[in-house]
Formats: sequence, C-alpha cells, structure tokens
Amino acid sequence: MKTFFWAVLITGGPLIAQTLPRDYPVRPVPFTAVHVNDQFWAPKIETNRKVTIPFAFGKDEETGRVDNFIRAAKALRGEPFEDHKYPPYPFDDTDVYKVIEGASYALSVHADPKLEAYVDGLIAKIGAAQEPDGYLYTARTIDPQHPHPWSGTERWTMEGINSHELYDLGHLYEAAVAYYDATGKRSLLDIALRTANLLDQTFGPGKREIWPGHQIIEMGLAKLYRTTDDPRYLNLAKFMLDSRGPQSSERGAGNRYVEAHLKVTQQTEAVAGGHAVRAMYMYSGMADVAALTGDQEYVGALDKIWENVAYKKLHVTGGVGARAAGESFGENYELPNMSAYNETCAAVGNDYWNHRMFLLHADSKYIDVMERTLYNGLISGVSLDGKTFFYQNPLEATGNAGKDQRSPWFGVACCPGNITRFMASVPGYVYGQKENAIWVNLYMGNSADIKLDNGRTLKIVQETKYPWEGAVKMTVTPDQASAAVVNVRIPGWARNEPMPSDLYRFADRSAATPTLKVNGKSVPMKLDKGYVAINRTWRKGDVVELNLPMPVRRVVANDLVAADRGRVAIQRGPIVYAAEWVDNPNGKVRNLLLPDSSKLTAEFRPDLLNGVEVVKGQAVALAKDAQGTVKRTPEPFTAIPYYAWANRGKGEMIVWLPTSEPAARPTPYPTLSSRAKVTTSRPPHGGTATAVQDNEEPTATDPGTHFDWWNTRGTTEWVQYTFDKPHSVSRSEVFWYDDSAKGGGCAVPASWRILYLDGNEWKPVENAGPYGVAKGAYNQVAFQPVTTSAVRLEVKLQDQISTGINKWHVE
Ligand SMILES: [Zn+2]
Repeated sequence: MKTFFWAVLITGGPLIAQTLPRDYPVRPVPFTAVHVNDQFWAPKIETNRKVTIPFAFGKDEETGRVDNFIRAAKALRGEPFEDHKYPPYPFDDTDVYKVIEGASYALSVHADPKLEAYVDGLIAKIGAAQEPDGYLYTARTIDPQHPHPWSGTERWTMEGINSHELYDLGHLYEAAVAYYDATGKRSLLDIALRTANLLDQTFGPGKREIWPGHQIIEMGLAKLYRTTDDPRYLNLAKFMLDSRGPQSSERGAGNRYVEAHLKVTQQTEAVAGGHAVRAMYMYSGMADVAALTGDQEYVGALDKIWENVAYKKLHVTGGVGARAAGESFGENYELPNMSAYNETCAAVGNDYWNHRMFLLHADSKYIDVMERTLYNGLISGVSLDGKTFFYQNPLEATGNAGKDQRSPWFGVACCPGNITRFMASVPGYVYGQKENAIWVNLYMGNSADIKLDNGRTLKIVQETKYPWEGAVKMTVTPDQASAAVVNVRIPGWARNEPMPSDLYRFADRSAATPTLKVNGKSVPMKLDKGYVAINRTWRKGDVVELNLPMPVRRVVANDLVAADRGRVAIQRGPIVYAAEWVDNPNGKVRNLLLPDSSKLTAEFRPDLLNGVEVVKGQAVALAKDAQGTVKRTPEPFTAIPYYAWANRGKGEMIVWLPTSEPAARPTPYPTLSSRAKVTTSRPPHGGTATAVQDNEEPTATDPGTHFDWWNTRGTTEWVQYTFDKPHSVSRSEVFWYDDSAKGGGCAVPASWRILYLDGNEWKPVENAGPYGVAKGAYNQVAFQPVTTSAVRLEVKLQDQISTGINKWHVE
C-alpha cells in the first residue's frame, strides 16, 4: 500500500481521486438528521447550546484569547498596539476554534442569527490575523522577533516538541468545515484552505518533513479533503502520520510522550508515558486516513492498539490516560482511582476513536466502549448547569483537592471547548448506515430520517427512557415499502459482558435476558458482532421493541488491577455509580464497606440532579478508635450516577467500594497533626496544603494526596501546624512528594528542619537526629521535647528541581 501511495505522490496524478469515493465502510447518519427529543440528552444538548457555548465564548473574550487575534492583526497592519506579549500558551487559539465548531453544530440544527453574526465577527478577526502567505499562529505573529518560547524563532522548527502550530490548524480545520456545513459560508473555510495550501507548498515528499507535536491536524485534513475533494489534504495527513517516528529528523523524534517512539504502523499499544489526548487524536486520524486510502497497515496497528487499551488501560468509567505526570497512559493495568487523571479531552478523543473503529469494522464492541465513556467519564466533564468543567475525572476523591471540583475555566482550557463541540454532535453517534443497512447503536428518544443508498428514506422514531429504563420502542416508517436491514445493538452490559475484554466482569450472571420483537412477534437473539439483524421489507408503522433488563450489577476488575482488588463498582444499564458524601451519613463514603450480601435496589428520583436513578442498599462504616481498633457501624447507602457527582459542593466520592476490611479505609482517629491548622509560606501549585495532614497515605497503587511548590526552586519554604493549645512534641516524620521518575518537576528537597514557636520567635528544635531525604518512605526525626502552640517544617529546595510533600506528622 505504501509503495502505491508514494507512486501517487511522485506522479502527482489523481490516482487516489480515481478510487474515490472511498471512506468508512459504514457512514454515520449525520447529527443533523437525528432529532433528539428525550429527557436525558435533549436537555443536555440544549444546555450546551444555550449556556455552555455562550459561556465559553465569553471566557475566550475575557481571557484574551480573542484579543490575541486582534493584536496579531494590528501587528500585521503595522499599527501600534500596547501589549506585544505572546499568549500564555501557543495553543490558546484553539479554544476559539473549538467553540466555533461547537457553535456551528448548534447552528446546524437551530437557527440563531445573533450567534451566527457573532461567529462571523470572530471569523473576521481570525482572518485579519492571517499572514499574507497563509500562516496563522498568533503566538508568533503578535511579535515575530519575540515569539512564545515554545514556538522557536523560525516557523515550524519546534513543531515536534511544543510549538503547536499544526495543532492550532487542526482545530481550525474542524471549525472551518463545521461552519461551512452549518451556514454554507466559505469565510472560515477559505482561511483554513490558505493555511493548508501553505502546508502543502512547504511539506511533503521532496519538500520538508513535518509531523505534529500535538496531533489533531490529521483529522482536520481528512475533513478538508472530504469537503473539497482535493487529494493534497489527504496526502498531507498521511505524510504527517508516516513521517512520525524515531527515524525522523524532526525534533521530538523517538519521543513516546508524543507517540513518536515508533512509526505509527509499528505501534501496538497506548504506550506508558504517551500523552493520552494526543494518542486518541492520532488513532482517530489514522482511522480516517485508513478509511480514505484503504491502508490496511494502519488498520492492523489500530486493532492492536485498541486491544491494548480495551484489555489493560481503560477505567470502568471509560476514562483513559491514568497518569497525571505527562497527562499520559500508564503501564498495563495501572488504573489508580484517586490519582486517575482521565482528562475530559481524552474521553472525548476515546469516543472519536471508538466511533471510527465501529465505522471501520461494524462491530458493536467499539460502541460498548464508546457508550461506557459517553455516559460516564465524558459527561462527568461538565456540570449539570453547563458552566463548570472537570479537567481530570478521578474515581475517588477527598473533596479537598482543587481537582475535586469543576472549574469555570482553566489556564489550559482545552476541555470546555471539547465539551461544546462534542455535546452538540451527540446525535451523530446514534446510527450508522451502509447501502441498505442501518445500525442502531445508541438508545435515546429521537426521530431520524435515514437515507438508504437505493434512494429510499427510512424514518426511525425511538421512544425510550434510556439510560434509566431499558425498554426501547422504534417505529420504522419508509417513504415506501422498502427492503432494508436494521441492525439492533444488544449492548455488552445486557449480555453479561460489561467490557469486550477481560478487564471488567460482572460479579454474577444475570438471568434477565434482552428481548426483541417486530410488530409483537419475537425475533431470535442471533448475534453477529453484537447486533441482531432484522432483514425485512419495512412498511409504514412497523414497530421494533427492544427490552434490555437493567438490574443493579456489581462489577469486578481483572485481578491485575491492583487498585481495584477487593472492591466492586456498581453499574446499572450503561451507568456507572459513585457514592458521594452528600447522600450518605456523616458526609463520608471513603470509609464504607459494601458487603457482597447487601441487596442493592434502584429508584428513580425526579427531583435529584435533573432526575436520576439512584442505587440504595446497606453499607458498613468503619472507624478506628483511640486504641486503633476498627469499629463497624451499619448504615444506609446511596449511590448516584458517577457523571453527576460534584454538583452539590465539596466532599468525598468513591466508585470502587471495598467489600471486606483489608481493602477498606477506616476513618482514622484524629491526631495532633490532623487537627492542626495548616499554613504555608507560599500557596501550593498542585494539591492543597491540607493534604499533608489528611492521612491519605501513598501506597503501591495510589500516590495518595500531596501538595507541591512546582515550579519554585532553590528557595526556603515552610509549612506550619498551629495547634488549638500548646502541646508537647518530640517526633516528626515527613513523606516527600517526588514525581521526578515519571518526568515530573518535583523531587526530595536539599535539606529540611523542624522549628517551633517560642513566644514570638521561631527556633530550631534541639538534639534532632538526622533529617533524611529518602524518597518513597517516611523520614523520621526525634528531638528534645518542646511545648509549643505551633511547629514549622522548613524546607530548602534544590536549585534544579522543585519539591512537594505527601504527608507530615508531628507528635
Ligand atoms: Zn483537555
């Protein structure tokens, strides 16, 4: 295939064009043809349109992201302007592009002249910031002599590292095609094509080599190609994918963080340390290029990578990218709960990818993964009111860390924009179509007009209370009697198979089985790739009735997932549950044990969290007394859908509940340290100061909680405990936060010591033993007892690397 491809390029001929139209074997039924009208998705899509999109545009304005284009335009026109400073991040342009994409999808189904006029205004600003030869990148144009330090002094020279020039363009292309499709206006598309033509003139076989340090342009170029039929854009996408790898002369070659450790066709796993969002976008781009070129090497690589993720690297919530360090994938089965990173963008990317894998293979196992992510770890990324967002989506929380609450915006604001574009296009994931076959992948109340290849139209009206109830009625109405195959997906969770892999299984088998009827007559459950194919001549008023029983299930992880051993998660239908502080006694859930014998029941609560099915049962609360003995107290237990947590204030949350004491975490008996007031010399960068006293100990499977002073170096800092009254102290121990082995910027300090408050004066404790700086362990020190109302841990940071603290105890 590769030889063939190069031949095309060398002759410059339209060979690829001649083999067109070639694309995915199954085509998605576009979201514009699927009108969702249910109680679950329709309100979310409407909140996205009415609240999130205007809100995100407002943030783009307020944070200077729109102003970057205005300043770049002034620079190009030679007009004086005050602030020549480059944007905080060289990818800030994408936050505008992404929300334009989201707004375009909204405009496609809902005319809004005011919104359209606003976007037209933005597009004019973007166009004015474009350099005469097509180059578009405000981080350089604002002041080419002093570009962003990540950008390099010359165009494209730092692309494989961190300039994000191509990343910005990738999002521009997605937005441009979306706006053109929505309005027919070429304004943004023409801006995009000028940049793409510059890329084509500059890069390619016989010209310069390039590949993106942050992927997405591959998907964007595929869309430009589909829109224009110009093979240059597809060729460029494939060139960038094929150039990637250790053999490249570009900076960044060989770097696994950007998935350049191997040529893409040789990759077999979502490699540990590989940035998860980059990976998801790359796999999605590879799928697009494979579909458009027929390249089977890409498909072979994608199949292997998919197996690796589905079998070893996916959280039960569908989240991917377990590690905070590098926002990356972990090793196989490295799926921690509290520290799970699971970026919202990675969840969006995972659904882009799995949807594309379905379109390639017509297999519902990809939809099983897509649905798991969609209903859990993706929509958890946005609050119910549509105004705050999670960047990280952990599976357990103390409520004390900054990441435990959604935020209105971020310095790196990738996630909110991704939510706007994904939520607006959800109806596009419901159906697939090929020749005279239709795939029904998702269940949500909707009315869809599906064009078959024989020119007939089939209208499908779905009526269902999914995901709360599993009864789905589909009324099929052809424009005239028409033979067609309707492939009805039977979700894995309804077949005793929560995942199409051995990563998760249900604790027991459910005897309740799905049923399917056409016009009241049972259809045998003959499954092919997860679908029952109904092949018949459809007539007006035909009714398909699917029933998917939804008992409350306990999910167990593969024993190789150390973090989940001795624990269960709760799932009902496609929804994964979490216990949150607010619904449970004493505002605590992380001290709970859920015995296997506890019967779990479901109940719909229309008043709660916009209407959710809750799960109830009996749990046991564990607490240690002063002697260290564990006390057990039975108490009622309530769990809510995971996606809906953190909408009612700060507190504890847990997905994987211990089933017996060894895995449980009894509430610790209060100590001098845990009762003290914590202050620090400078505000933490990561984590919160109270992490040092919260008893969330680092373990083999979870790094516990911490705070750090990243990226401060070489200074002397302190953290202080102030007691309610003077206490005698004579011992202290500290556990340093050190993520340097995983590429982070924190290590043990140069030195430290303990001070105590004597009157108004801080004095070092006397006769102290050695102050150790061992990593991965407590460093204990004993000293001459002092009676004091406050102690300080004074830390001298190394000159080259910052530091942080997991835990600090005094007694
Ligand atoms: Zn993000």
